[in-house]
Amino acid sequence: MCRGGSEDHPKMARSRSANGLGSLIDVVFSKLLSQNKVSDLTSGFFVMVPKSLCIAPFVNTHISVSGGLKPCCEYADEHGNVETSTVSAAWRSERMDKIRKMFAEGKTPAGCARCTEREKSGARSLRDDYNSAYQYHLKQLSLTDVEKTVGDFPISLDLRFSNLCNLKCRICYHGFSSKWFGDAKKMGLTVGDKAVISSFKSPEDFAAQIAPGMQTIQTIYFAGGEPLMLDEHYNLLSDLIKNDRTDINLAYNSNMSFLSLRDKSIVELWKHFPSVALEASIDAVGELGALVRNGFNWETFQQNIATVREECPHVRITFGVTVSVMTIAALPSLCDGLVSECKAKLSDIAMRPLQDPSFYRMQVMPADMKQTVERKLRDHLAQLRMSHVGDECLRGYIQQIEGMISFMYDSDYSAELPEFVRMASTLDQLRREDTEALVEGFSDMKRVAETLTP
Ligand code: SF4
Repeated sequence: MCRGGSEDHPKMARSRSANGLGSLIDVVFSKLLSQNKVSDLTSGFFVMVPKSLCIAPFVNTHISVSGGLKPCCEYADEHGNVETSTVSAAWRSERMDKIRKMFAEGKTPAGCARCTEREKSGARSLRDDYNSAYQYHLKQLSLTDVEKTVGDFPISLDLRFSNLCNLKCRICYHGFSSKWFGDAKKMGLTVGDKAVISSFKSPEDFAAQIAPGMQTIQTIYFAGGEPLMLDEHYNLLSDLIKNDRTDINLAYNSNMSFLSLRDKSIVELWKHFPSVALEASIDAVGELGALVRNGFNWETFQQNIATVREECPHVRITFGVTVSVMTIAALPSLCDGLVSECKAKLSDIAMRPLQDPSFYRMQVMPADMKQTVERKLRDHLAQLRMSHVGDECLRGYIQQIEGMISFMYDSDYSAELPEFVRMASTLDQLRREDTEALVEGFSDMKRVAETLTP
């Protein structure tokens, strides 16, 4: 997930006003009210923002594993690349200004289709995540003086050093995982000639590009690849400690297979940073978890979560779940596993519907299967209502499950069912796995797919 930054507490980052963020909340609000586009709402207290506004382009730059620069990981187009431009130059480029101006005018750029689709179905979007994490900045944002507001460098970086990863998740591809390279070559799915792809040319190039923001960056979000496997990530944390920047907010998306790299221990490094948010990626527990995320080990995952809880109790742990056709029926057992084995609260579980590749969407299921899955999820919620009486987290969890059900019914992608079945059988052969034994309803989907195959 690629996902949004950490909760941004005013005390956690310095130079809050270094980017010239003004005190123009009144101007913003009066403009919004006059446009009658007031919406709500984020957790904890109400914040009025235009329904279409997204804070991401005003605070964040996403740097992809191939060096592409975008306002966030979900945005469709890049506005630069670290090879041909710099983070600073791209941040103040005309293309970025255009995106910001569109949001300021109450419009949503075409590049935001993924967020728009999720929101339309009632599911949570990345825009919701950013607006929630950056409430503080939303309140200070000046829509009347956008250029001044954003300063010379993003205050948040979504940083992908490379695609180096130990897993080859079925929903992933070579662009995000070096481990996929061998299978992708055999399947003709990559034209690349090397497994590892890196964003920056060299450590020196990275240092030079990051230097203009070294004193003003407030949040760095690491994903990959697998960030806890990356030398560059550990080196950056060491540099931040040396530069007295432990006040920075660190945020992660990690598969939690490792807690160290050679002699570098992440729990030791995290002890220097008061603000660390860890989103542990997991789509299913046990054997199904290992099928959908090849290389995943549920026992190792539990152990590593327990170690972080014990060694670094200040680290805020959440669980990022990408829901696909392979895993939606297994959400109840995932919830049970996370609550019982990883001490998760229901509010720690963040579900997002998979959108790409489209043949893995839950929407490929035939209509009668969708109804079966819906019944199962509603039974799950009924049980939770009995077992979690008085649990304040239940409401948000129910909303998320309802969002998944809505998304499932929102579109009919059953025409792509044969492609899902074909891909499952190809990967089963290559990896000696058995989708039919582990994915609920797969044999029925296979039968239906045969009737749809020309
Ligand atoms: S609306 Fe979504 S896609 Fe667009 S900039 Fe915001 S987070 Fe990114």
